[in-house]
Parts: sequence; C-alpha cells; structure tokens
Amino acid sequence: MIVPDDGYLAGVREPTRRAGCLFIADEIQSGLGRTGRTLAVEHESVVPDVVLLGKALGGGIVPVSAVVARREVLEVLRPGEHGSTFGGNPLAAAVGTAVVELLETGEFQRRAAELGVVLREGLESLLGAGVVGFRARGLWAGVDVDPALGTGREISERLMREGVLVKDTHGSTIRLAPPLTITAEELQGALRTVGKVLARRV
Ligand SMILES: *Cc1c(COP(=O)(O)O)cnc(C)c1O
Repeated sequence: MIVPDDGYLAGVREPTRRAGCLFIADEIQSGLGRTGRTLAVEHESVVPDVVLLGKALGGGIVPVSAVVARREVLEVLRPGEHGSTFGGNPLAAAVGTAVVELLETGEFQRRAAELGVVLREGLESLLGAGVVGFRARGLWAGVDVDPALGTGREISERLMREGVLVKDTHGSTIRLAPPLTITAEELQGALRTVGKVLARRV
C-alpha cells in the first residue's frame, strides 16, 4: 500500500491528456468512500479517463465490478464485442446500484475520513511497539510490522485468532481495511488487539 506523493496523479493526468492516451485509475480498493472521498483521485481533484470499481461495489454480497468512463471511451466497445457469462447479472447490478446510492449523502465518506483519524492515532501509538511504519488514508492502512515479529501472513493469522481480520500483503506488511460502518469503539478495540498481538513474541 503506497500513497502517491502529492502531485503525482496530477503529474500523470497532464502528459496522458497531451499524448491522447487513457489514464485508468484502478479504484477497486481505494474507491467508494474508503479513503474519505468517493474516489481516491478526488484527493488531487484529478479526473481519469477510466475508473475501475469492484469489491465494495458488491456490498459484500455479490461479486461485481464496473468500468466507468465517459461515453466516448466506453463506445470503443460495441454491443456484442465483449462477452461475459455473468455480465449484467440483475442481482449484482441491483446491489451495485444500491451501493452507489448509499454514497450519495456523503455519510460514509465522512465516516471514513473521521474514523481515519482514530486509525492514524492508534497506529501512531504503536510506532516503535511492533510497528515500524505505516501509510494510511481514510479507513485504510498499510502497516509495516517489525519483521522480527513474523511475516504479514503470520501476524494476520495471530490477529484472526483474536477476532481481528486483516490481510497480509508483502513481507511483514499487513493491510487494515475495516468496514465503513465500524464504530470508533470497535476500531479502537481492534487497534488494542493489534497492539496486544504485536507486544507478544510468538
Ligand atoms: C481485487 C482487485 C482487482 C481484481 O478485481 P476483480 O473484480 O477480481 O477483477 C484489481 N485491482 C485491485 C486493486 C484489486 O484490489
């Protein structure tokens, strides 16, 4: 999990526009409110040509993804040129539409931004106590655990046994992506568990 430096996305937008090539933002994890904005590219007020959505789009119920773009881009594919067995599944489409509607009021984006502060504070307090570094935006964090404590996979399994689900990435880095409906108390409880597990040498 790497947060782009300030100006990076704007720096991609300009040359791609000039060259007439598509800027495709994969927001499958970062999109739909997670980072405190509907799309993470909004942190830099950048509008890509194509945005990819998935995962949360299915509300945890159905596997569904989407390619979002303006008509001019989408019309490159004509009807019948791109087939998919389960594409256009009515239940998946209904769930995806409902998820997008849930984001209309901005409540979840606001929650992610506010709880992101709680997440950041909790992780800061763990720096030097098993955590060697972290990168976070909204309710989303990549946490570098001291490699002496185990691999990301091992740490994830220890946390799972304590009731906290995280995902290992590379090396000793774990990814925290709690549900946007989590309460501040639940988040603090999860962070306490992370602290407890990291304090223990297994
Ligand atoms: C999961 C994931 C994908 C793949 O999405 P599918 O819907 O399984 O095709 C692509 N990009 C990112 C960043 C993902 O997290």
